Amino acid sequence: MRVLITGAAGFIGSHLCERFLANGHTVIAMDNLITGTMENIAHLLSHPRFSFIQHDVTEFIYVEGPLDAVLHFASPASPADFPLLPIQIGKVNAIGTYRTLGLAKAKGARFLLASTSEVYGDPLVHPQPESYWGNVNPIGIRGIYDESKRFAEALTMAYHRVHGLETRIVRIFNTYGPRMRLNDGRVIPNFLTQALRGEPLTVYGDGSQTRSFTYVDDLIEGIYRLLFSEEVEPVNIGNPEEYRIIDLAHLVNTLTGNTAGVVFKPLPKDDPKQRRPDITKARKVLGWEPRVSLQEGLQRTLEDFRRRLRAQNGRQTVPG
Ligand code: UDP
Repeated sequence: MRVLITGAAGFIGSHLCERFLANGHTVIAMDNLITGTMENIAHLLSHPRFSFIQHDVTEFIYVEGPLDAVLHFASPASPADFPLLPIQIGKVNAIGTYRTLGLAKAKGARFLLASTSEVYGDPLVHPQPESYWGNVNPIGIRGIYDESKRFAEALTMAYHRVHGLETRIVRIFNTYGPRMRLNDGRVIPNFLTQALRGEPLTVYGDGSQTRSFTYVDDLIEGIYRLLFSEEVEPVNIGNPEEYRIIDLAHLVNTLTGNTAGVVFKPLPKDDPKQRRPDITKARKVLGWEPRVSLQEGLQRTLEDFRRRLRAQNGRQTVPG
């Protein structure tokens, strides 16, 4: 297959590129590099089946030749980005989805949308099945991300219904792994960076809020299976093991031997109190479930963070 991946220089996008190349496909990678970096795909640039186009997908997209699939993964996704890039987030998920859908239609390609557990907002149903419609504050600090992803899902379904486009929607739950930005702002990169620097981990609120963390390889496997499945309606991909943030902090401190403990900071507004995917559908339709435990995934991510922090610090030593 010849596939276009938007957001290809981002954390998830770059892992997706690797997976499609490994399975023998041709990958056209697209990114405007506002949150992605060339460092994430530098090792792929010389691959004969890989090419990169620097482009903002909110502008008209031109791709030469046929395409079999378009995977729309462009969008800043860290809550730390929400107050900094709200208009870019709104545009990439609204106009960018419109343009990538239009491209898929013109090429007769299958379309896969990267959606999010954020469509469930601060959920009143727990765990969250795909049938839950969510509890989102449209005008809150997270509103632009949540609502633009909800709109992206709606537009994807519209193209499916009106034009008969083959579409897939993955609702991605908290995912972590190598290549996340060191200063990403999400909880695992923050904790790993802080622990490796011997600093206390910043726990927001009292740390009783929960999340479920998926290692990136597990996510990629789920997305790959979804693209080749016949499932049109959204599918949750996430790890159903649920952790309190305070317990995650203790786990990271134990794994890294960090003795600086934790420090409590104010809880950001509209921070969901709990999140855990119901993955009954992914199990049934895709035969998928996560395989990498949090301990194992954190170890692998830690190695990548340690290496990059060392490189960043030059000759300065990073503990561990
Ligand atoms: N969080 C935290 N300390 C940090 C960063 C995040 O306690 O340094 C908390 C945050 O308030 C939220 C959870 O960790 O309850 C997950 O936050 P993240 O930004 O990773 O993503 P979210 O799931 O909120 O989109």
